[in-house]
Amino acid sequence: MTTSPSRTLPRIALVGTGGTIAGAGTASNGLPSAAYQAAVVSASDLISHVPQLARLAELQVEQLLQIDSADFTDDKLLRLARQVAALCARDEVDGVVVTHGTDTMEESAYFLHLTVKSPKPVVLTGAMRPGTALAADGPANLLHAVAVASHPGSSGRGVLVVMNEEIHSARDVAKVHAMRLDAFASPHGPLGLVAEETPRWYRALTRPHTTQSEFDITAIDTLPLVGVVSSHGNMRQEIYEAWVALGARAIVHAGFGGGTVPAYLADYLSMLRARGVLLVRASRTGAGPVIRNANADDDAQGWVVTDDQNPPRARLLAALALAHHDSPEALQQVFWRY
Ligand code: ASP
Repeated sequence: MTTSPSRTLPRIALVGTGGTIAGAGTASNGLPSAAYQAAVVSASDLISHVPQLARLAELQVEQLLQIDSADFTDDKLLRLARQVAALCARDEVDGVVVTHGTDTMEESAYFLHLTVKSPKPVVLTGAMRPGTALAADGPANLLHAVAVASHPGSSGRGVLVVMNEEIHSARDVAKVHAMRLDAFASPHGPLGLVAEETPRWYRALTRPHTTQSEFDITAIDTLPLVGVVSSHGNMRQEIYEAWVALGARAIVHAGFGGGTVPAYLADYLSMLRARGVLLVRASRTGAGPVIRNANADDDAQGWVVTDDQNPPRARLLAALALAHHDSPEALQQVFWRY
């Protein structure tokens, strides 16, 4: 009697996009971790340096992009989301791992979280140090990301970021340090940890994502333009005006504290609504809610508050919402819901 070999390992699609995890040092200036070029090592080479991956999953590797994540534009983000969605739709794929630069990982992860309509695990990971650094973090991060993507308990949790043995939700995570290995943090803490190559879960999200998300990128060619203006002392209205001139449908005002608008800009910003541009009040602090009508009359102005979304993610949520809705009321409901 012949028996066909039974498949025992989960099948994980690994999508390479570049970043420091795919970086290599130049070291000629004697800075072993800081002097390197991002996005030069292929995704296939990355996995060949982590033989432990073979006991966790059968990997199918593809190199979608090879860029520093600073070079992500909306067209590349849409391309990544369409590709991850296509991979998730395949029966022979059980989960997806995306290797990505850390600088904009929180934005790409959130965009996938809102647009990939699948319960299969989608995990982003990267590295704070290139592979040529003395204590490179990329190999362990990659191993842990594959361990999380391979685990049946990871499905239906939304898109995840796995860095430094922590599992974060794409809704909340942000890069909060320029150098340290624990550069990623979520205001309410990570969802779980990776211990002995196995995820341990401690929290779950309450907001909709992936399969429950209303946003449909199959109907979108380009994202509506949304700008972000960061607050500082001595601001100028011309910066907002530049976004208006570019055709922005909304501007995220990354305000002080609870999204405060300086008094000397209030008259100018009051006129934006009548010109067809929605003002979205966010906090430049990166955590905590902006309270509607608390330090501005949002109802009278037709302004929107972000709940607790940080400005870069608020840009993406506003753009997706504006692809489906027009009014400040509808945009506000989206911010309350997601
Ligand atoms: N500049 C790099 C990137 O985001 C930084 C990193 O990956 O850590 O692509």
